[in-house]
Amino acid sequence: MLSSKIRITVQPEKMVRLSEKYVRFYTKYASIAFKSLKKPKFQKFVRWMLRREKMEAHIVETVQVRVFPFQKKNGNSLAGRCHVRTGEIRIYPKKLESCRKLVQKFGKEKAHSYIKNRAKASLIHEILHTKYSNDEEKVRKLTKRYFNIFVRKVKTQNWNDHINEMLFRQYNSRSS
Ligand SMILES: [Zn+2]
Repeated sequence: MLSSKIRITVQPEKMVRLSEKYVRFYTKYASIAFKSLKKPKFQKFVRWMLRREKMEAHIVETVQVRVFPFQKKNGNSLAGRCHVRTGEIRIYPKKLESCRKLVQKFGKEKAHSYIKNRAKASLIHEILHTKYSNDEEKVRKLTKRYFNIFVRKVKTQNWNDHINEMLFRQYNSRSS
């Protein structure tokens, strides 16, 4: 089952470099993202999606919820990444500074919903990459479609369309 393959993974080299404030923030972030991915309703949804896409669950070997962000050369941070050959999926956090802005603008509760939904959308996206590999456009389109199905299915609390829209705006600006 996919749920048992999800792990929180620390990149030790970053742990040494970052101040305590960052370490504390990203540790909490990872735990929120991890819990939201393990939620039975979401896991059930992922199983349904795999069946619908005619994908085998064992294609995903591990899902690593990475504690620290991954910054691309262009300065944007990466939401997730997948290695098709090894079946390894990595989910990265949004940067502390961007999360601060979210909290200021929408309040803590909505910022938390954003974090949870970002993790879920990233996992959906990376799972789809294991089937459609480099077809980024198709993967993005399907991610949005499946994520909206999930939202309708579970009628997530604290949900609002504005956050949904924001989530996919950032999705459209990422390149992997
Ligand atoms: Zn992608």
